[in-house]
Amino acid sequence: MAEFFDVVIAGGGPAGSTAGTLLAKRGWNVAIFEKEKFPRFKIGESLLPGSVRTFERMGVKEKIDKADVIVKHGGKIVSACGTRSNRFLFCDVFRCKYPTAYHVERAMFDQLLLDHSAESGCRVSQGVTVTDATFDADGVTVQTSNGSFRARYLIDASGRNSLIGARFKLRRTYPHLRKFALYAHFEDVDREPGIDGTLIKMVRGKDRWIWMIPITAKKTSVGIVLDAETFKRMRLSPEEAFNEILQQNPMASNQMRQARRVTEVHAMGEFSFRSKRLTGDRWVLAGDAAGFIDPVWSSGVFIAVLSGEKAADMLDRVLREPARRLAEFNRYEQKIGRVMDLYLRFVTSWYTQEFAEVFFYPKEFFKVVPAVNSVLAGSEKQLPEVRWRLWIFHVLVFLQKQFAMIAPRMSLQPKSAPL
Ligand SMILES: Cc1cc2nc3c(=O)[nH]c(=O)nc-3n(C[C@H](O)[C@H](O)[C@H](O)COP(=O)(O)OP(=O)(O)OC[C@H]3O[C@@H](n4cnc5c(N)ncnc54)[C@H](O)[C@@H]3O)c2cc1C
Repeated sequence: MAEFFDVVIAGGGPAGSTAGTLLAKRGWNVAIFEKEKFPRFKIGESLLPGSVRTFERMGVKEKIDKADVIVKHGGKIVSACGTRSNRFLFCDVFRCKYPTAYHVERAMFDQLLLDHSAESGCRVSQGVTVTDATFDADGVTVQTSNGSFRARYLIDASGRNSLIGARFKLRRTYPHLRKFALYAHFEDVDREPGIDGTLIKMVRGKDRWIWMIPITAKKTSVGIVLDAETFKRMRLSPEEAFNEILQQNPMASNQMRQARRVTEVHAMGEFSFRSKRLTGDRWVLAGDAAGFIDPVWSSGVFIAVLSGEKAADMLDRVLREPARRLAEFNRYEQKIGRVMDLYLRFVTSWYTQEFAEVFFYPKEFFKVVPAVNSVLAGSEKQLPEVRWRLWIFHVLVFLQKQFAMIAPRMSLQPKSAPL
C-alpha cells in the first residue's frame, strides 16, 4: 500500500513551501517532494511587500528578519541616457500597509522557507523528483524517484517546467514577450548610503534593461533583460554579451568599478508564459507552474507566494467540504488570473518607449497615479481600487504614444556609447 497524504506538493520553491506550511498548520497531512538538494542557486531575488502579510501568517517573517537579507524600501528606475530617474518608495503606496519588502539570496531564502515547512509539520523530501501522477475519482497516485504515494490532491509547484503543464500541454507563451536574460552575482558593487542603497535599481535602455539588486550585506545580483532576437544578433556567448552590455552602460560600469563576479554568468530565455488552466479534477498549479510574466516589477515570487497561499486556503475548504470543489477551483483560477492580467498589462507597457517617457516625466504623474505604486507593491487586496487608477496611467501612455502630449521624446541611449 502506497503511503497516503491529504496533499502532495511537487516542488519546494516559494510556491510549494508556502502552500505546504499553511496546509500543515491547518492540520492536514502534507508531503513536499523537491528535486534538488537545497541550498541551490535560483534567480528571482527582489520581493514585494504584498508577500510580507503571507510571511507573517506562515510564522516565518521573524526568521527572514534575522537572516542575511536586505530590507527593500522600493526602487529606482533611471534612464540609460542618464537624464531622468524616478525613485519610488513603498511607504508612498496608496493606503500603504507594508512599507518594506526584502531582497534575498534565493539559495538561503528557499531553504529557510522549506525548513519552516518541515517545522510546521510537512514531510519534506529533498533530492526526490516527482516523475508522474495518475488521477482517479478518489485522488491521485504520485510517482517519485523514491517510490509512489497516494494523496487526495496534488499541488504542482514545480516551477517553469511544470510537470502537469507538460503532461496536459497547458503552456502558452506570450509572443510579444520573447526576452532573454543574463545574470550573475557580484561582490563589492558600490552602494549608495542609507535607504537608497536598499533599492532595486533598474536602468532602462532602448531595447534592454539592467537590474542591480543588493541581496546580502556583500552580494549584488546584476542582470540584463533584452529581446531574444537582439541577443541572437549579437553572436556572442552569454558571458561576452553580459560584459559588453554592462561596459556600454556608464551608470552600471561606474557602480561596478571594484566589483568581483562570484558566480558564473547564467542565461535564460523563453521564460514568459501562462498555463491555459490552473486546476483540474485533483490538481492545482501554483507559482511559476501557473505562469510567469517577466522579471520587471518583481512579480514572480509575489505571485508564487500568493498562489501558494490561495491554493492552501482553497484546498483546506475543499478537503472539509468536497462538494465545493468546482466553485472553489473556479474562484482560484479567476483570482490568480486577475493578478496575472494586471501585471501582464503593466509589463507589456514597460517595454514601450512611451511608457518610459510618461513614467520618467514629469514626476507628478507618478504621484497622480498611485496605482502604479500599488502594483509595484504587489497589493492584491487593493486590486479593484488599483485597476481604475492604473487604467488612467495606461490612458496617459496611450496619449503619449499617439500625440507625445505628456512628455518630450527621450532617446534612452547611454551618452558615451549607444545601446
Ligand atoms: C531572469 C529572471 C529574473 C527574475 N527576477 C525576479 C525578481 O527579481 N523577483 C521575483 O519575485 N521574481 C523574479 N523572477 C521569477 C522567480 O524566479 C519565480 O517566479 C519564482 O522562483 C517562482 O517560485 P516557484 O516556487 O513557483 O518556482 P521555483 O522557485 O522555480 O521552485 C520550483 C521548485 O520545484 C522543483 N522541481 C522542479 N521539478 C520538480 C519535480 N518534477 N519534482 C520535484 N521538484 C521539482 C525545482 O527544483 C524548484 O526548486 C525572475 C525570473 C527570471 C527568469
